[in-house]
Amino acid sequence: MSHFAYRNGVLCAENLPLTEIAQRFGTPTYVYSKAALLENYAAYANACKKHGRDDKTALVCYSVKSNSNLAVLNLLARQGSGFDIVSGGELLRVLAAGGDPRKVIFSGVGKSRDEMRLALSHDILCFNVESVAELHRLNEVAGELGKRAPISLRVNPNVDPKTHPYISTGLKENKFGVAFEEALDIYRTAAKLAHIHVTGIDCHIGSQLLDDAPLLEALDKLIELVDTLTDEGIAIHHLDIGGGIGIVYDQDKPVAVGDYLGRLFTRIDGWRAARHGNAPITVLFEPGRSIVGNAGILLTEVQYLKHGETKNFAIVDAAMNDLMRPAMYEAWHGVQAVRQREGSPNTYDVVGPVCESGDWLARSRSLNIEQGDLLAILSAGAYGMTMSSNYNTRGRAAEVIVDGSEMHLVRPRELPEQLFAQEKLLA
Ligand SMILES: *Cc1c(COP(=O)(O)O)cnc(C)c1O
Repeated sequence: MSHFAYRNGVLCAENLPLTEIAQRFGTPTYVYSKAALLENYAAYANACKKHGRDDKTALVCYSVKSNSNLAVLNLLARQGSGFDIVSGGELLRVLAAGGDPRKVIFSGVGKSRDEMRLALSHDILCFNVESVAELHRLNEVAGELGKRAPISLRVNPNVDPKTHPYISTGLKENKFGVAFEEALDIYRTAAKLAHIHVTGIDCHIGSQLLDDAPLLEALDKLIELVDTLTDEGIAIHHLDIGGGIGIVYDQDKPVAVGDYLGRLFTRIDGWRAARHGNAPITVLFEPGRSIVGNAGILLTEVQYLKHGETKNFAIVDAAMNDLMRPAMYEAWHGVQAVRQREGSPNTYDVVGPVCESGDWLARSRSLNIEQGDLLAILSAGAYGMTMSSNYNTRGRAAEVIVDGSEMHLVRPRELPEQLFAQEKLLA
């Protein structure tokens, strides 16, 4: 069920009218529902439990880049979640939020020496290595620290995830991972390196996948490789299938997380029984969007209505710097008026104040609104705040978590003075 619904004509987050949040903290403000967040996490955790997995044999590593607010990370850490990070900064966030570094996996094509040192010093669970050059650098850095770095190779199964090209990552032409055909050789190299410990295999083929067929196809390719590696005496202890399950933005019909995990575990169990004498293999997931995407909205106020010759514009106080997805991917976000009005709607493009034609949040939406009304931009919990910028010297939005009828400010609005406080004039 959605935790953003109308009560007495006013859109609420859980039991709290969004109007109260705007009154207290202003706009634009990201609003997250704690219940939605925990429910989405539980869909993964419960499916793991249902298929006989415990903490040792399945781990959800929440993708920090989708929403990295400390309060969000802390709520998930308290549920036992692990974390998938893509930078040293994200590791520091996880630690600050009380996350367990031993449940952290480190993805990304460009890990620096400093980032490797930081992650090694905290004994993270695994480095998802994305190239031969990275493997050698990691071996060197681990050697300097007198450590062995646990690694999995991010393999590119060359499966088409059938999603937007910008969020498709598992095809041959993508910059991510190593080619399936080269993986065996790279594993052989890795197995010989003194400061590398091969522990797993991983892939992440894309984001906003509505169907799990490409994920199961990728799983089959990983299984094939694990068997070859086992035959060569290279033991693989965990299999990381990545994230990527989609959410409802418009008319999307994403696969239910429980159904997908059911099919995945059934396949894995059948394989382990047939080929590995039922020896378990730990399964890792890296979900981001499916946990936090529909747990958040962006609350914004209509500044002006502008009626043009061919178009009507609702100019709001949120912009592309707050929510980049429409400008970047032409992403579609639902828009709802917080207060329902009588009368007939108009068609509007919902745009921000930033000086770019790309600064729009939604196009051709039927809305019954007046100046000063509040709008909720839906499904904004993932890749919203984390992709925000200070373009046009706009302070980042505030972030609020709603729990029942309580609101908690988990990040105050940035003040413009803070944005240039570190800048210096020439003498
Ligand atoms: C972004 C990312 C994810 C999360 O993807 P979602 O589609 O948000 O679930 C997982 N793994 C890696 C390596 C990523 O880069």
